[in-house]
Order: sequence, then structure tokens, then C-alpha cells
Amino acid sequence: MIELWGEAVRSIEERVKPANRDQWLRPIECLAISDGHIRLRAPNRYHKEWFEDNFLPSILENLRIRAQRSFAVEFEVPEESPMPAKTPDAVGESLGDVAAWRPTPAGLDSRYTFESFVVGARNQFGHAAARMVASSPGSKYNPLFLYGGVGLGKTHLLHAIGHEIHRQHPDWKITVVTCEQFVTHFIRSMMMNQRRQPSSVSLMEEFRSFYRETPDVLLIDDIQFLANKDSTQDEFFHTFNALHLAQKQIVLTCDKLPAELPGVEERLQSRFAWGLIAEIGHPDLETRVAILKRKAEREKMALSDEVALAVATVIRSNVRELEGALLQLSARSSITGRSIDKKFADEVLQDLVSATPQGFSIEAIQREVATYFDIKLHDLRGPKRLQSVARPRMIAMYLARKLTGSSFPEIGGRFGGKDHSTVISAVKKIENLLAQDPNLRSVVSTLESHLRQR
Ligand code: ADP
Ligand code: MG
Repeated sequence: MIELWGEAVRSIEERVKPANRDQWLRPIECLAISDGHIRLRAPNRYHKEWFEDNFLPSILENLRIRAQRSFAVEFEVPEESPMPAKTPDAVGESLGDVAAWRPTPAGLDSRYTFESFVVGARNQFGHAAARMVASSPGSKYNPLFLYGGVGLGKTHLLHAIGHEIHRQHPDWKITVVTCEQFVTHFIRSMMMNQRRQPSSVSLMEEFRSFYRETPDVLLIDDIQFLANKDSTQDEFFHTFNALHLAQKQIVLTCDKLPAELPGVEERLQSRFAWGLIAEIGHPDLETRVAILKRKAEREKMALSDEVALAVATVIRSNVRELEGALLQLSARSSITGRSIDKKFADEVLQDLVSATPQGFSIEAIQREVATYFDIKLHDLRGPKRLQSVARPRMIAMYLARKLTGSSFPEIGGRFGGKDHSTVISAVKKIENLLAQDPNLRSVVSTLESHLRQR
């Protein structure tokens, strides 16, 4: 059985740069495979976290296809090595480019300003909170925690705060990073630290000063990415405390409420809720129309009220998809030379909804399943284990996999940060049950047909 692991690893190795292969893949040792369980050994926990994020999902997917079953993974990490093991010199050479790696502090997106943000009923509070924090950073609402589903404008507001503070305090240092960059930066600093001469400044010191001492404002996007990354959470805890104590403004965005963040330590969850929490909701029809009109204006695209209304009526899931639809209209109109009237728009929309997987967002599936079983969306995504919730959740995961083709970790993330192995076993379980249970088959096909009619 162990060979199976080797084969799966080899099949992804081709797509991995040799340096990464030697540094990250090879040191992972497979101790045992049996009965849907795999036991792996990683040299240290940083290595484990990195491997889990970057390689494990595709290896597991590959294994699943080879073995026709899914596997749950367990790691063994030697206790006595809290610090990374020394990397051999030959491997170290190839890390040269990594040593100087930093997230770009000047990473504010020029498109994401308050001026370009359309305010509607569901994002009004988040917008007002962001404005308030931008006009008096560090003083009152610290941290500001913006949360909501994908494509609803969280990143936009985060950057808008950055731009506004920069306008008022041009000499302040504004650090904007995604949580993923923070994690990467931290893990790399940990790993590389070992390779420095003792006399040179430690990379960990550099890292700490970058986040804890130098910023006047720290903007971190998609904080849910901290889930299950224990060592990074520990580091972030200290970063948070240092900045908070110094009354430096912290703004965080997230796809859920602090208390709903599984795999995030309680002491962090509670700190996230110290300041102000604001939800960014789904835009209503009126706001969707306003957003379309605003975007069209910026792109100098002729968009009648009638067409804007047609698009906003069909595309309901989020702002990013609205932008996508607008882009399609404009691209197809310039290719075909047709003007963007209602008839043309209807044709394009028809295509968009039926031909692309966009018609099936994980979000839409969750809503449909929650409505069908009459349970709260919040419970469907949350950790409750009650049978009445657990079964619909598995069905929703199954449908998400089938209809959106999203990866297991991605689906897990949208169900309250569940582990990809949980998703894999849910999908498998429903697949098995479908083969035996005609009732379940009819439930699932009803759900699918509702979704197709949306
Ligand atoms: P999130 O971070 O919540 O996933 P983004 O901030 O990336 O979403 O928003 C997705 C896209 O939609 C971006 O291009 C953003 O500019 C746009 N957008 C979102 N909300 C609004 C809004 N209220 N007004 C104008 N554009 C918006
Ligand atoms: Mg975002």
C-alpha cells in the first residue's frame, strides 16, 4: 500500500519545481496506509502546515482516483523539533530567491477606493464603519472586523481604508497583506532563519519588526486562512497584541464571524471581536443595478437601465459575478458588432447562466439546501453534529463538488473551515447512499432541478 503514496507523490512531482520538490515533498515520509487512513511524518510543524496547504490536496485527489476511495490523513511531527530542521546546503542554494521575499507593503489596489464603492442597504453599516476607522484610525474601533461572503466587497473596503488613511497621513506606514501572505512570510522566515550566519540579523526579527513595530496600520485580508495553522496563529496573536497595545489600527476581513471560525484559537477569536464587527451582505436588486451602472460608466460602456435591470435580476450571487457579466456583454458586443440592447443581453445572460459553472455557486447550493430542509444557513455551514443538520450538510457538500467542481479544501472552507478530509468523506458517503436509497435520490434530483432553474 505504501507504494500507492509514492506513486501519487511522483505524479504531482512533475508539476513542482525541483527546488520545491526537494525541500517540501521529499522530506514527507509515509509511515502507513490502511483502511482509508494515512499516517505521514513531517520534519516539523511548519513543514507540515506548508505541505498541507500546498501539496496535500492534489496528492489526496490523485490517491482517491488511484485507490477509488478517500483517505483521512494524520501527521506525526517530532516533539523535540519546535524549530525547523537544518536544510542541507544543496537545497539551501535554491532558496536564495526566497530569502529576500516580502509581501509588498505598497500593495493597495488603486481601483478599490471609497469613491468607487456603491453603498446599498446591505453594506451600509460596513461602509460607515470603514469610513469611521479611516478617519480616526487606532482610536475607537480596533480591530475593525469586516465579514461576509465572497465577492461582496470586503477587499474593496479594506483597501479603501488604506487609501483614505494614506491621503490623510502620507507619512504613515500602511501594511496590507492577505492572510495567506502573512502565513507564507512567517513560515519562510522560520525556515530560512536556520540558514543565516549567527551574526546577521535574524529573519524572524525582521519578520517581527515588519509586522509588530513598523506599521501604523495593519490591513489583513481573509483572516479565515489562519484556520488550523497553529504556529502562525501563535505568531499572529503576538503581532495583534503588540499593535493593539500601541493603538495602531488593525482591520481584518473574513468570510465568517469570529466565533464561527473553526480551527482558530479562542484567544484570537475573542480579540477579533474586541472592536467593531460589521457584516457586508448580499447586494439587493437596487444596489446591483447601481453597481452595474457605476461600472459601465467607468468603462465608458453604454448600458441602458433596461439592460442593467435584466443583468441585475439574473445575476444575484455577488458583485464579482456582476462584473463578469458586464465584461461578457462588452466583449461579445465588440466581437459581434451588435449593440447592447435587451435582446442581446438576454441571449448573453442565457449563455452565462446555463453554460458556466457560475450558475452554481457553493453559496447558492447552501441556500437551496438550507431552504429545502428548513434549517438555518448558519447551522448548515457550522459545526453542529445533529443528524438533522449533518445529513443536509453532507448533501450540500456533495452537490457543491458535483455542480461547481470546486476543490475539497475550497468546499471545506465554505462550510466553516472544515477539513478537506471531512468533505471527501461526506461526498463519498452520499455517493454510496445514493446507490441504495431511492428517497435520497429523489431529494438530490429535486434540489438539482431547483438549482438549475434559478
Ligand atoms: P470580497 O473581498 O468580499 O470577496 P471584493 O472586494 O474582491 O470581494 O469585490 C469583488 C469585486 O466587486 C471587486 O472588483 C469590487 O471592486 C467589486 N465590488 C464589490 N462591492 C462593491 C460595491 N459595493 N461597489 C462597487 N464595487 C464593488
Ligand atoms: Mg477578498
